Order: sequence, then C-alpha cells, then structure tokens
Amino acid sequence: MNINEIRSKYLEFFEKRGHAVIPSASLVPLNDPTTLFTGSGMQPILPYLLGQPHPKGARLVDSQKSFRAEDIEEVGDNRHTTFFEMLGNWSLGDYFKKEQLPWLFEFLTKEVNIDPNKLYATVFIGDKSKGIPQDTESAGIWQKLFAEKGIDAATKEIGSESDGYRLGMGGARIFYYDAKKNWWSRSGVPENMPAGEPGGPDSEVFYDFGSQHDPKFGNECHPNCDCGRFLEIANSVFMQYIKEQDGSFKLLPKANVDFGAGLERITVASMGVPDVFAIDVFDEMIRHLEHHSGKKYEDSRFQRSFRIIADHIRAATIILGDGVRPSNTDRGYVLRRLLRRAAQHAMKLDVASGQGADSILNTCAVIVMEKYGQAYPELAGDEAYQHITGEIWKEEKQFAHTLEKGMKEFEKMTAGNHITGQEAFTLFTTYGFPFEMTLEIARERGIEVDEDEFKALMKRHQEQSRAGGEQKFRGGLADHAEATVRLHTAHHLLLAALQKVLGSHVHQRGSNITQERLRIDFSHGEKLTKEQFAAVEALVNEKIQEELPVFRTEMAKEQAESLGAEKEFGAKYADMVNVYSIGPRDATREDPKFDHVFSIEFCGGPHVQNTRELKGPEGTWRFKIQKEESVAQGIRRIKAILV
Ligand SMILES: [Zn+2]
Ligand SMILES: [Zn+2]
Repeated sequence: MNINEIRSKYLEFFEKRGHAVIPSASLVPLNDPTTLFTGSGMQPILPYLLGQPHPKGARLVDSQKSFRAEDIEEVGDNRHTTFFEMLGNWSLGDYFKKEQLPWLFEFLTKEVNIDPNKLYATVFIGDKSKGIPQDTESAGIWQKLFAEKGIDAATKEIGSESDGYRLGMGGARIFYYDAKKNWWSRSGVPENMPAGEPGGPDSEVFYDFGSQHDPKFGNECHPNCDCGRFLEIANSVFMQYIKEQDGSFKLLPKANVDFGAGLERITVASMGVPDVFAIDVFDEMIRHLEHHSGKKYEDSRFQRSFRIIADHIRAATIILGDGVRPSNTDRGYVLRRLLRRAAQHAMKLDVASGQGADSILNTCAVIVMEKYGQAYPELAGDEAYQHITGEIWKEEKQFAHTLEKGMKEFEKMTAGNHITGQEAFTLFTTYGFPFEMTLEIARERGIEVDEDEFKALMKRHQEQSRAGGEQKFRGGLADHAEATVRLHTAHHLLLAALQKVLGSHVHQRGSNITQERLRIDFSHGEKLTKEQFAAVEALVNEKIQEELPVFRTEMAKEQAESLGAEKEFGAKYADMVNVYSIGPRDATREDPKFDHVFSIEFCGGPHVQNTRELKGPEGTWRFKIQKEESVAQGIRRIKAILV
C-alpha cells in the first residue's frame, strides 16, 4: 500500500468514529505530544488534557508534517528519514483504552492489511514505589484482540531494555516494560515529573520483519531490541494520572488518549520490507536516479547516496512548499544543507543531469510534488512548481560555484600529499567546501586528511560561535514553535506599551505572528513620533528585563471585562474565557494581583511562563521595532522582532 492510501484510510477511519480532522500545520519539529497541531500552528495540548474543552471537540485526528533536523547525518540506513508524517488521534476525556486499542488493531489488520501474526505489543509494568499499577487492562485488551484472530498471546514481564536482552521473548506476544519504555509525560519517567504534571502508561505496537537477531546487541532479541528485527509503528499514550505534591499519583478526573504513529513506518510494515526507502515516493525517486546514473540501489557502494538524495529532496521540497528559501539562518540553512548534501551525493552517483527545472534534483522534486500535492495543496499547482524548481536550481548553481572556488583552494593545499585539519577547516568555513567532499576527493587521490584535528577545530568553532550557522542548523527547526510563542508574549507586551505611551484609544485591529517576527495593527490616528517610538520599544524591553510572570486564568467573561482585559478585534466570546496576564513581579498563581498587571488580554495562548524567556539563551536579546507604517485610515501597523 502507498502513503497516500494509508493516510486517507486513517483519517477516514477515525472521522467515521466521530473525530474532527485537523489540517496539518506548516512543518514542525518532531511529534511533541504536549502540543496539538492545528491549522494556525501548534497549540499546547496540556490545558485540554486537564479538562479545558477544545473548540473542535473531544475527538481529534490529524496527519502532521514533521521534520527532525538532528537526523540529517543519520540518513543512509534503512530507517532514518529527516521528514516524516505523524498520524495522530486524541481523546480529550472521551474514549479510552477499550476503544483505542481495538480501533488501532482493526485499522492495522483490516484497513492496512497487516498480518496480525507479525504484530507485538508492549505495556507498562507498573511502579509499586509510586503506587502506579501494572497496566493489565491494556494487556487484557491486546490478548482478547489477538485471540479473535486465533492467536494465543501470552504476556511476559521484562522490565528494562537490558533485562530484555537477558530474558528474551519466551514465545510471548505482549511484553511489560518499565517506565523508561512505556510511560509518557513531558518530563519523562514518574520520578522526574513535577507536581501537577499529567502522565500515564503507553502501549506500543511493533512489527516483526522476521529477520535474524544480531547478537552484537545482546544475547536475546525482544521488541525493544535495536537489531532491526522489530520496528515500532504505533504508540498509544494513556494520560490518566496526575502527580501530587506529596509525590503520589492520582487518577485524572477524565483520562485522555494521545496516539501517534509514523505513516512511513506503517507503510513499510504493510509491505513487509525492512527498508523505509521501499515506500512509493522514495522508490520512484530511486528508480529515476538508477535510470540516470546507470548505478544500482542494491549496490552497497552507492545505496547510502541513493537514500540521502531521496530523503533530502523529499524534505527540501516540503520545506520549500512552506515558502522557505535557502539562506544562512534557521530553516533556510537547514534547507540549504539538505539541497547541498543531495547535490553532493548526486555527484557521487555521477548522475546525468539537465539544466533548470530538468536538473536531476528538480526532476526528483517533481516526483515529490506529484505524490503529496493532493494531501498538501501547497505542493500542487504552477506557482508551487515555479517556486520549488526555481529555488532548487538557484541553489544548485550557487553550490556549483562554491565547489569550483573550493576546488581551486583544494588544489593549492594538496601540492603535498597531506591535508591538515586546519586546511580542511578553512575549506569548510571560508569556502563552504563540505568536509565530506574533502574526504572523498582526498581518498580518490590517495591524500591523507587529518580528520581528528578537523573535528577538534569544528568543535571549538561551534562552541565559540553558538549563534553561528552550524548552531542555528542544529537549533533551527527545533526552535520554531518556541520562537512563535515568545513573539506572542512580546505581542501582548507591545500592545500594553502602546496603550501606555499613546493612550487608551489604542486597540488591536489585527495581528500575525510567525517564528521570525510579530505584526500588530492598532487604532491610532498618526505616525508615531521618534520619542514615542523609542519610548514604546524601551518600555517593552524594561518589562522583559523585569522578568515578569505570565499567567493564564479561566474566568467569567464579565470578570475579564471588569478587569479591563483587552479583547481580540471582532472576536466573540463564551461565558467562560481564558485570560493571559503579565506581571506584576510578585504575582503568583494563587494571587495573580490582577489590579496591578502590566498586560491583560482575552487570549487562548500559548505564552512563555515568564518574560525572562524573551531575553534569549544568553540574555542578550532585545525587542526591536523594525517598521511602523499606516495600513488604513486611523490604523497603524508595527512589525517587531527579538534579536
Ligand atoms: Zn534483536
Ligand atoms: Zn494573545
């Protein structure tokens, strides 16, 4: 089965069972179960897990585009990809284990047609010291489900991963593991959870490829073994506990389900092939590359390059679809890395390539657009085609230019038969010549490269320039949602500062926040004077420096109105509303001191917990207004950033 079929089957399956389908947000890092993806970006799910009603209802389902920049270097084996789609369904205080597990099993075995004999489940073993019982309920449900398929599913207590290598599977199908493997909370295992934090056991499903266990991982094989025999394809988190002040665990009044599964992994399981690059979109790109290079994917000398090109072009096309362009910062840098690494490996395959939209990378990108255009409209149509192929070709040309300059330096340096670490470092940092490339060419010519020295220099360089390109590349995407949240809080500070400096006639008339900047439209008749401009900026910075606490409070609409909470322009509110307040400094959750707040707004969040988070990791950031202009009669617009 292919990814498009499985994605639509999943969404339909849960839609039929009363779930609201949530559109994918633009590309986000990892599936972080503390957040829920909505059309307008990531929302923290925590308030909903604790009982706040979600506007879309108590049953939600989505397929979310996700990206893991940390894995760029890992791509090349049979399972790592940088981009992936996360299928998710949620029960917010609605259904629980006895619905979730049978639905999942039905979806996998009936809809996707996976042989139930190939499936294994894990559940939580319990923690006596914390009073958290073994999850026999989930195990019992699994046993019944397998029995219905005529499979006698015995359970086995394992404990830790290392116990697994010692104990083996003993013919069982359902395995009890400890909290490290089968417990989920935002802070990990029960000991690490702060009071007031929800968490719960989870139950994973593994697919058995039936390959031989590799004893280099341990004596015995078991589902959590890393040898490659088992692939985790799905995880149902049962959020049913909350940690108390005294360290004990209490049942939540309403338990939740938070389910996540890798679409690519389920597809691979449906095919029974232990290689994620066998899925349709990769397979088509790989056949295309084979055709134009005359090389074979099965050839171990080239397999890694085939995989890197296929993965990186798929990810790059999807990032380009979000409107990002290659650059030296943040997401643009990740995109540049992906495209340049793909180009480098295309050279390694010595693939015959055309020009412009016919370049080999572009013809691969077109395969991606065709596959994903239906599910993700930003990848369909002529405009997307022009943007994506145009940017890829521009980057290919620039990279070719970089390589040419780098090659000249390389020739100068290799007058001898040795490249020092310092020389390789200069090639990389000054000429943008990839180290992998230096290694490759040096190997071909029988020249030695001092790799250790290069790595030591790189490490020092990264430590020195923590804000430099390489660091941004690492942090880049992972930072995305946090950046937007910080700017949202800055947005509230700015509105309050405008009211204090310009007068109480100022109200919000529009707003837009991305991870790069915030924008606010507000009512005010004339251009800000230089003094007002400076005063607003200074006041926001002062409030950031004061490290003011930020609180969310649920209250009656009348109370919020009487406190003077700022409303969103044109918004309609229910009887109970969420209000975010900032300051004063000595406010606490128990005593938010609403009469002395700096800012108070009707708002659904999310926000930082303290304005100190707007100071950046080294405390050096400043709030800066980039632009102030008129957008309509009596309405001004400000764009601002944190730098
Ligand atoms: Zn194994
Ligand atoms: Zn807000």
